[in-house]
Amino acid sequence: MAMRRVYADEFHPRSELALPRHPEAMPPFPVIDMHAHFGPLLLGERYEEEYDTRRCCEVLREMGLERIFCLELVWDGEYDRLCRKLEASDGMIVPVGSVDVFKALEPDFEDHVYRVLRDLKAKGSPAVKLWKNMTLMGQERFGRNLALDDPHFEPLWQACGELGLPIIIHVADPPCFFKPIDTDNEHYVCLSRHPEWSFYRPGLFSFEEHMRMQEAVIRNHPKTTFVVAHVGSYAENLPQVSKWLEQYPNLYVDVAARLDQLGRQPYTARAFIERWQDRVMFGTDYEGWFTPERTREFYHTHYRFFQTWDEYFDHPFPDFLGQWKICGLGLERGVLKKLYRDNAIRVFGL
Ligand SMILES: [Zn+2]
Repeated sequence: MAMRRVYADEFHPRSELALPRHPEAMPPFPVIDMHAHFGPLLLGERYEEEYDTRRCCEVLREMGLERIFCLELVWDGEYDRLCRKLEASDGMIVPVGSVDVFKALEPDFEDHVYRVLRDLKAKGSPAVKLWKNMTLMGQERFGRNLALDDPHFEPLWQACGELGLPIIIHVADPPCFFKPIDTDNEHYVCLSRHPEWSFYRPGLFSFEEHMRMQEAVIRNHPKTTFVVAHVGSYAENLPQVSKWLEQYPNLYVDVAARLDQLGRQPYTARAFIERWQDRVMFGTDYEGWFTPERTREFYHTHYRFFQTWDEYFDHPFPDFLGQWKICGLGLERGVLKKLYRDNAIRVFGL
C-alpha cells in the first residue's frame, strides 16, 4: 500500500519527556543586549509607527534589561531621526549608526567615512554597524559585489581603528543559505518559506569566500575591534571560530539569533563560551515591534538557555531557523556576568 507523503513542516511532535522545566528563567543581574533592532533595517521605513518607545522599555526592564543596542544602517539625518524616536527610552535603547558603504567607489568615500564616524561618535554611538549588504547587495549599485577585503572599503577599517569605534558586523548568513534549497538543506523549511533569503545564485560570493574575506579584514586591521555577529558568522563551526579568536585578539563575537545552532551542540557550546568568556557578548536580534508576550517569552528562553540545564525546548526563533530543539548550557555565574554585561561595558566603553 502506498504511503502518503508527509511534508517536513507538517511534523510537530509533542515531546513526552518528563523533565524539570524553567520556562520563566530570569537573569541574576541586569543585562545588556548589544544586538537588537528598533529602526528601518527590520521594521521598515515607517518604523516610528510600529511601537511605543516608553511602553517597549517598560517590558524590557521587566525582563531584566538595563541597556539594549539598536543596530541600524543610518547616518546623518536618519541617525538623528532614530535618536528622536528612541529619546523616550532615557538612554536605555542605545542607537548605533553606520556609514554609506555604497559610496565605496566614489572618490570622496574616505571623507564621508571620517565625517560620519566623527559625527556618530560625538552623538554617542558606541560602535558602528555594518551588514551583509556590503558583499551581497552591491550588484544593483555597482553592477557587481565588492569583496569585504576590497581596497575600496579600506578607509572604513582604518577610520574605526583610529577613532576607537568597534565594528559590529554581520557577514554572510548561515552556510546552508548558500546551498541549494533541497531536502538535504538543514534550513529547508525556512528557505522554502523564504526563498528570497537564499544566496544560492550564480555570481555571488560563496559562504567559504565570505569566511576568507572576513578573516582577511580582521587579520589586516589588528588595531580595529571587530564584534562579528551571530557567533563570528559561523555558529555551525565553533572549532573554526575558536581558531580565529586564538589568532586575532581584536575579534569578539555575539550570540544573536544562533541559539538554534548553539543549543543543539550544548557540550561544545558550553566549553566554547567558558573558554572565550571575555570575548563573547549577549545579543539577541530582538525586534522593537515584538508584542509584550513575545518579548517575555523571547528573553525567558534566552535566560533559560544560558542559565539552566533544561533539555529539549524550543529556541527563540522556532518559526524560522532550526527545526529542532535545544538544551541549556547551565553557565556559571562568573561566566554569565561577563556574557550578559561586563564584556559589553568594557568593549563599548559604556
Ligand atoms: Zn541583527
